[in-house]
Amino acid sequence: MSDIRVLVTGASIAGPALAHWLRRRGAAVTVVERAPELRRGGQAVDARGVAREVIRRMGLDAAVRAARTDTAGAHTVDVDGTVLETFRADDDGGDGYISEIEILRGDLSQVLYDDTRDGVEYVFGDRIAALGQDADGVDVTFASGGRRRFDLVVGADGLHSALRTAVFGPHERFIRHLGLVLAFYSVPNEFGLDRWVIDYQDPASGRSAGLRPLPDATRAMAMLSFPAPDFDIDYRDVAAQKELLRARMADFGWSTPRILAHLDDTPDFYLDQVAQVVMDRWSDGRVALLGDAAFSPSPFSGGGTGLALIGAYLLAGELAAAGWDPQAGYAGYERLMRPIVEANQEIGRLHVQSRAVRPPDAEPAPEPDMEALMAVVDRALNGVDLPDYAEIPDSTR
Ligand SMILES: Cc1cc2nc3c(=O)[nH]c(=O)nc-3n(C[C@H](O)[C@H](O)[C@H](O)COP(=O)(O)OP(=O)(O)OC[C@H]3O[C@@H](n4cnc5c(N)ncnc54)[C@H](O)[C@@H]3O)c2cc1C
Repeated sequence: MSDIRVLVTGASIAGPALAHWLRRRGAAVTVVERAPELRRGGQAVDARGVAREVIRRMGLDAAVRAARTDTAGAHTVDVDGTVLETFRADDDGGDGYISEIEILRGDLSQVLYDDTRDGVEYVFGDRIAALGQDADGVDVTFASGGRRRFDLVVGADGLHSALRTAVFGPHERFIRHLGLVLAFYSVPNEFGLDRWVIDYQDPASGRSAGLRPLPDATRAMAMLSFPAPDFDIDYRDVAAQKELLRARMADFGWSTPRILAHLDDTPDFYLDQVAQVVMDRWSDGRVALLGDAAFSPSPFSGGGTGLALIGAYLLAGELAAAGWDPQAGYAGYERLMRPIVEANQEIGRLHVQSRAVRPPDAEPAPEPDMEALMAVVDRALNGVDLPDYAEIPDSTR
């Protein structure tokens, strides 16, 4: 065990995954999460390509597979519900539209938390209020009033990262809004949904509505999206978000009115802009960022969770391999991660562009260059060679 102390902010996906690897490499880890308990909710997230290998190396393959959804695939439908296209979960070797390892975000977070809770100090209902770093460490003051010193601090606190704002600059500087807003919430399954996702898109308005099955078959997850060139709603003001959703989707066809009828009785609700985080560096001295805080590719890439898992493996591995020297460790992490991050961000942008509303008199959209597109998809899934770090400590060996 080294005597390195690391503070991680955020206990969703990136934070607990990093805690797993830091602990295995011999560091003492504290994770501080603003919410009073592990946050439930969110849509299904996918683990594809290299991310699946990281899950295997974490020894969590069986736990993740046991918690995954049982989705058979997806149907796209027209306004009357007639099926237009069908995608199966086992298409493309399990790396297709619906991935073979698809798991509800809250369930994956729980698996990662259960795996680490015994060897890691978790502090819920608190956050960093102030921090200052010098050559040897970082002094942190918590909102609850406590003060502690750490060797390294990593922000895994999501798209709206407070640590990023405190250390790197204002939110707007790093956010690339892709012009869509996305909402998810669960509704009673009064739609006869079985193991299939249903997705209705309207190219004329750029809006979409869908439903996905949940492990609790009496409920279904609604997914709604609409174009919004700007977005200035407080991401914590749920009442304003619901009002916006109602205003933008009320006249939308298919099952949307029945879905909206449950807005006020849903126990969970998530709405955010579809945005990416674009930064030219993810570290400053002893502080680094990971996951959506550093490089959100947007939900439209399908890769945010995979990047968080891969980044956690590389960040801990590179730091330990560099003898916990932040400059060398963070540089190795950035060098290895950047190509796969950029490919996932490109997928996110291309996906959103493919939904752009075209004026009725516009020329037909050019056919996509399928060969180039498949090359980007391959880079997004597999675009990093994971070092095996055989020479550094691993408490499971
Ligand atoms: C409740 C929830 C629902 C989501 N639903 C979806 C979804 O449906 N589809 C999708 O594609 N993505 C969703 N996401 C985002 C998805 O989890 C990420 O894209 C991806 O998994 C990378 O995760 P992350 O750990 O980097 O960031 P996130 O999952 O965003 O987690 C950040 C964590 O940091 C915590 N936090 C925030 N600020 C602070 C602070 N100041 N101090 C301490 N902790 C803080 C948050 O409470 C959260 O637990 C959701 C995230 C959350 C938190």
